[in-house]
Amino acid sequence: MAGKTYGDGDASPAGANGFFSNDFFYIVPDKCTECVGFHDEPQCAAVCPVDCCVPDPNHVEDKDALTTKKDYLDQLGR
Ligand code: SF4
Repeated sequence: MAGKTYGDGDASPAGANGFFSNDFFYIVPDKCTECVGFHDEPQCAAVCPVDCCVPDPNHVEDKDALTTKKDYLDQLGR
């Protein structure tokens, strides 16, 4: 997933378990698992009212790769 910048002071999407900076909301590809293992669909995209969370053609991963990333992040304690 890729995220566009929200307006200053906007809250991050409710229900999203991604990683956001304090100043700008953006999705870090190395940490985004497209919610595999937690939800049936990317939660940031599902709840974003202005469609800011979109698939990133530069970071296409299959479910096995996303699951491996999720497991790795789980081991790190996120
Ligand atoms: S798809 Fe899921 S893991 Fe990726 S940024 Fe959105 S809420 Fe976070």
